[in-house]
Amino acid sequence: MVWKPRPEPCVPAGERRRWHDSDTSSQPFTKMIFSRLLLLSALLAGPLAAAQERSTAAATLPIADAHFHLMLYMTPAALKERMDRHHIRWTVSAGAIGSPSAGSPASRDAAVRDLLGGRFVPAVGGAEARQAELRVGARFYTDLPGTDRDAALRRIDEQMAIQPRVLAETFPNAETSSVDPVRQRRVATDGPYFRSLMAIAARQGLPVPMHMQFHRESVAELSQLLQDHPDGQVLLSHCGKDTRAADVRAMLDKHANLFCDLSYRGAPLASDESRRDPNRLIFWGPGLLQAAGMKDDWRQLIEDHSDRFMVGIDDVHTWEIYDQTVLAIRQGVLAQLTPATAEKVAWRNAARLFRLPPVDAPAPN
Ligand SMILES: [Zn+2]
Repeated sequence: MVWKPRPEPCVPAGERRRWHDSDTSSQPFTKMIFSRLLLLSALLAGPLAAAQERSTAAATLPIADAHFHLMLYMTPAALKERMDRHHIRWTVSAGAIGSPSAGSPASRDAAVRDLLGGRFVPAVGGAEARQAELRVGARFYTDLPGTDRDAALRRIDEQMAIQPRVLAETFPNAETSSVDPVRQRRVATDGPYFRSLMAIAARQGLPVPMHMQFHRESVAELSQLLQDHPDGQVLLSHCGKDTRAADVRAMLDKHANLFCDLSYRGAPLASDESRRDPNRLIFWGPGLLQAAGMKDDWRQLIEDHSDRFMVGIDDVHTWEIYDQTVLAIRQGVLAQLTPATAEKVAWRNAARLFRLPPVDAPAPN
C-alpha cells in the first residue's frame, strides 16, 4: 500500500497537494519542511557538538585512580605501562594482593612505589586486620580492647607515620559483596576498631576507605562515626556498593566529611552482580548495542556534590578488563559530566583528599 500523508488541516482545501507533487504550488510546503529541518539541526548541533567536545576532553583528562588493588599477575613495570598508556597520573592503593610466592601486600606495594615514585601511594592495614579477624573472628572489630586489636592498631599507626601511605580498604559490611568468606559479615561501623582507625587517619589528614553495604544499621553507625569525628573523613568504597543515588544524597547532605569512589560501579566489573541487584551498576562504556552512559539520578547527584566523587579501577582480573574499565570511566562517567565536574571527579578531588604530589604528566602516545 502506498502511504499518503493526511492533508495538513491548516492548508486551505484548494491548495492541498500530495507531498510528491512536483508542481510549483508544493514549494511553500517543501520550504517549510526544509526550514524546520534546518532549525532542528541548528537546535541539535549545539548539544551534539558539546557532547562531542566532552567526549573528546574525557578521552585524555588526567586521572587519579583512587581505588586500586595490585593483582598477583601484575608487575610494577606492566602497571606503569598501563598508567602511561591511559593518562593515569596517580594510582592510590587500596591494598595489594599478596601470596607466599609473590610477597606480602606491603612488599608488593613498595615495589610499585620504588618504580613510580609520587605517582603511586602504598596502602597499609589490610593484612593486619584480616589476619587478626582470621584468628579471633569478627569480634576483633567490636569487643573490648584485646591484644590482637591493640597490636594491629599499633602496627598500622607506626606504618602510617611513614608518609606517603594511605589506609587500605576496610570492610565493615560486605555481607553479600565479597568473594572472601571472612568478609561476608556486618560489623559495627562505629565500633572501637573503626573509631581508632579514624583517629589514626585524621592525624595524617587522610580518609578511611570503607566498603560498606547500605544496611540501615550500618548507615546509622556510619552517621554516628562521622558526627563523632568531625576532623576525620570516610571515603565510601564503591560509593556504598548497593546504594541508590537517593541513599547517598541523604548522607552527603548530612555529612561534609563523607566522600565516594565510583570503583566497581560500572560495566564490565559490576555487570554480573547487577543481574541480581540492578542498583550495583551506575555507568557503562560504549558497547555494540549501547552508547556509553550513566544513570541520570547519579549524574545529577555527582553534579550537585561535585567535590565528593572520584573514580577507581579496583580489582581487575586481566589487563583487558583494566582497559575496558578505564574506557567506561572516561566515556560513561567523565564524558557525561560538565567539564568542571569531570575534571574534579577525574583527579582534582582525589588529589586534594589524598594530598597527591604534583607529578609530570605521562607522555602522550
Ligand atoms: Zn577494592
